[in-house]
Amino acid sequence: MIELNDIFKIYKVGEIDVYALNGVNLKIDAHEFVAIIGPSGSGKSTLMNIMGCLDVPTSGKYILDGKEVSCLSDNQLAEIRNSKIGFVFQQFNLIPQLTALENVELPLIYKGMSASKRHKIAKEALERVGLSDRINHRPRQLSGGQQQRVAIARAIVTNPSIILADEPTGNLDSKSGEEIMQIFKQLHNQGCTVVLITHDNHIASQAKRIVRIHDGKIIEDRKIA
Ligand code: ADP
Ligand code: MG
Repeated sequence: MIELNDIFKIYKVGEIDVYALNGVNLKIDAHEFVAIIGPSGSGKSTLMNIMGCLDVPTSGKYILDGKEVSCLSDNQLAEIRNSKIGFVFQQFNLIPQLTALENVELPLIYKGMSASKRHKIAKEALERVGLSDRINHRPRQLSGGQQQRVAIARAIVTNPSIILADEPTGNLDSKSGEEIMQIFKQLHNQGCTVVLITHDNHIASQAKRIVRIHDGKIIEDRKIA
């Protein structure tokens, strides 16, 4: 499903070339649950942004569902993102003025869905993350873990086949982090492909496969029994 072939991402900083990704080869099949682990600055977010079609590589081929996407226009990339990929970030990126339900409805508004259909589908997504009793709360009225669950509901409301999560537990205490991991496990069991970025070994050990990245290179790739 995800196939990265010899991916380089080079940022120009003044006169200097920063090799954020330095020849990455990675294949992820449908329904896998993969943790990408590495220290700060190792290229994890750059890799996720490319996998999520938020950014394009400097060189190399990215094939998603059998189609090369490294050469597409911004509009075409946006279309792929909206139809296939759900994103979860460390900072929950919720809109503070909107309720949990309204935040989750946003991607459906962009799709032009009617209000009644939107409410129904957004409520179902909030139910899947265990927040049926918080749909009218605003972000500041929710704990960090609950806010992240709203962000996950928003990511899954369009039924993406791939969930990409960049340090989703990075701002949470360990108990809330565990709850978030339970939700990712559940999404994986329901058939989603989950790619989770972390620098936390314990979080990574809950995935089915661990890919370790260092200085823009994959240095270890192993399945967990
Ligand atoms: P991680 O997510 O593992 O912390 P990143 O992918 O954010 O790592 O960054 C990898 C490297 O690329 C770092 O050295 C970082 O400083 C550099 N980098 C990331 N984004 C940019 C950018 N927009 N411009 C210049 N350098 C960048
Ligand atoms: Mg990062």
